[in-house]
Amino acid sequence: MECVICLESTSNSTKVFNCDHINYHLNCIKNVIVCPLCKVCKIANDNIINGRFVSRILVWHYNQILPASIYRSAKKLDCEIVIIKSLSERGPNDLIYHYP
Ligand SMILES: [Zn+2]
Ligand SMILES: [Zn+2]
Repeated sequence: MECVICLESTSNSTKVFNCDHINYHLNCIKNVIVCPLCKVCKIANDNIINGRFVSRILVWHYNQILPASIYRSAKKLDCEIVIIKSLSERGPNDLIYHYP
C-alpha cells in the first residue's frame, strides 16, 4: 500500500490512530497528531514515557538494538528502533536510547 504522506510504498502494520488507517510510514506521521485520512487523534496513552509521546527509539549502533528492544518491551512501547549516525536525524518525539 501507499503512504498517504510521501506516496511511497509502505508495509506498516502499526496502528497509531484510533482508526483503522495504517497506510503511512511511522516516520512520516511522527509529527502528525491526527490521522491524515479521517482526522482521528492518536491513540492515547500509547507509547508514552514520562508524559511524552515516543514515536521512535534511536540507537547509535546495531549492538544497541537488542538492549533497546528489551527496554521497549519493559516500557510496553510499540515503536520502531532506528540506528542513527547523527543527532540531526532525531525527531521531536524520538527517544535516544543510551547504552547502560
Ligand atoms: Zn511515507
Ligand atoms: Zn483514520
